[in-house]
Amino acid sequence: MADILDTIQRSALMSRIGPVNSKPELMVRRCLHRMGYRYALHDSKLAGTPDIVLRRHSAIVFVHGCFWHRHAGCKRSTMPKTRRAFWEAKFVANVRRDRRVHRKLRADGWHVIVVWECQTRHQEKLTQLLSRRLAAAPPPVRKQ
Ligand SMILES: [Zn+2]
Repeated sequence: MADILDTIQRSALMSRIGPVNSKPELMVRRCLHRMGYRYALHDSKLAGTPDIVLRRHSAIVFVHGCFWHRHAGCKRSTMPKTRRAFWEAKFVANVRRDRRVHRKLRADGWHVIVVWECQTRHQEKLTQLLSRRLAAAPPPVRKQ
């Protein structure tokens, strides 16, 4: 029974693949803010309702939980021992959805940056990662 409840609760969370304003996301936001970037949050007008949108840089940041979004080779990307088929189907759907969303956004001219949950733990490393990724972003060309 406990296992069933657990699965239902997880499924509820799953419906948007991870909670809004999760701790990793707050870490990234704090970091970007400190770096002087301004951004919009959870823009539902864009594919996939991106967590963080930096319009001036045509950049979008997704903060992905390693478990739900299947961070390859990450120790947090575990496979539950029960209901394997169920989980595998969920995970495949999540990964496919991410791929589709990123492709759509790129086609629309956005620079898509994925930050994994496990990359948000050390602020200094996170800052370096973000500045590297954003340096690769194209200069603003979009009309606002
Ligand atoms: Zn990870």
